[in-house]
Amino acid sequence: MELQRPSSLDAVDGAGAPGDGSVFVHGGTEVVPLLRDRILTAERLVDVRGVVPRGVSATLTPGEHLPPDNGYAGVTVGAGTTLAELEVDPQVPDALREACRLAASPQLRNTGSIGGNLLQATRCWYWRLKFPCRLHGGDRCHAREGEHREHAIFANDFCASAHPSDVAAALVALDATLRTNRRELPVRDLYRLPDEANRATTTLAPGELILELRVPRPDASIYLKAMDRKRWAFPLVGVAATRTGGATRIALAGVAPIPWLLDGDIDAATPLPQTAYKVDVARALIRRARAAVA
Ligand SMILES: Cc1cc2nc3c(=O)[nH]c(=O)nc-3n(C[C@H](O)[C@H](O)[C@H](O)COP(=O)(O)OP(=O)(O)OC[C@H]3O[C@@H](n4cnc5c(N)ncnc54)[C@H](O)[C@@H]3O)c2cc1C
Ligand code: SF4
Repeated sequence: MELQRPSSLDAVDGAGAPGDGSVFVHGGTEVVPLLRDRILTAERLVDVRGVVPRGVSATLTPGEHLPPDNGYAGVTVGAGTTLAELEVDPQVPDALREACRLAASPQLRNTGSIGGNLLQATRCWYWRLKFPCRLHGGDRCHAREGEHREHAIFANDFCASAHPSDVAAALVALDATLRTNRRELPVRDLYRLPDEANRATTTLAPGELILELRVPRPDASIYLKAMDRKRWAFPLVGVAATRTGGATRIALAGVAPIPWLLDGDIDAATPLPQTAYKVDVARALIRRARAAVA
């Protein structure tokens, strides 16, 4: 396998095109285990650390793309910023800082980038163990029929996986936007529900590189997380809440195949037999989060 270390965006252009065999890698905390387990194959790893900005607002490196003082009420976060850097940065809204702090382990947060975090694959063990399930292109959801305690309570008909990113839920609640090498889009639109015609859970095109996030600064925000252990566990349910003026926005992790913007009531959930408990957990966390940002 070849390793490329491009130093300009032009040099990345064309990488990742269909059939080209390239895979982008930043911290590698997700890519390396997937390669090891042969879920992912690559002829070429393209290490994007030399071209993806790292840092918050005016401290962006290696290339700044937005003027630091552009009248924008929020912060700009380079997609190469590590979770460890974000969890201690006072410029970063509380919900995002807390989501980073509660994610993974200190070692993983020191290495893992926010861009890579948004693109992490499902933790569904059927998928990780290479069962020929729907997300692998097959015609069954083994989790729906089998063990699914960690799985979804919303949009779980086709694939019942639960999105594992605390960070993505916080960014959706914050109504953050992404800039890639091709377009700008709300973080919410980075994700799509898989279906028969298209099994992808993101809208990222082959070769599209996430460069930056623009994160609005709300009046108040919080992230609460229920997990099996007190540290180093994926969210059973994560709840991010933000308040800007009189408007509250809630997004959840661990409840649907994608980060879930709650635009109705938690009672609209359609849990599976083993995930009914998540509805109660989510309801309690949402109540606490709403009270905290009120
Ligand atoms: C044991 C373990 C526990 C974890 N626990 C949690 C948790 O509790 N909560 C949570 O939110 N996360 C958790 N994570 C996920 C962790 O935060 C991510 O693995 C990490 O942030 C990924 O960043 P990376 O830079 O290492 O990504 P990489 O492994 O380098 O890349 C991940 C994916 O993103 C792509 N990619 C990377 N950068 C870019 C870019 N700029 N543009 C386009 N594509 C890109 C890669 O091709 C790959 O598909 C856990 C991970 C592990 C291994
Ligand atoms: S939940 Fe999704 S990833 Fe898991 S077995 Fe079902 S289809 Fe596959």
